[in-house]
Amino acid sequence: MPFYEYQCEACGKDFVLLQSMNAKAEDTVCPYCSEKKAKKLLSKFSSFGGEGSVCSTSGHSWGGG
Ligand SMILES: [Zn+2]
Repeated sequence: MPFYEYQCEACGKDFVLLQSMNAKAEDTVCPYCSEKKAKKLLSKFSSFGGEGSVCSTSGHSWGGG
């Protein structure tokens, strides 16, 4: 199940819940004030990527003499 980020319109806090894809905002209860006024936010958990190490072994030769 994916993570969804919500922001409560009652208290203004944001929180992340693990919900099914069919979960609705109206079913989401704020853990801070127990209001059902959570608004779904866009997920910040975008695809992982980033700074990987690139292997380029051109012009190098292993082994010393
Ligand atoms: Zn709240």
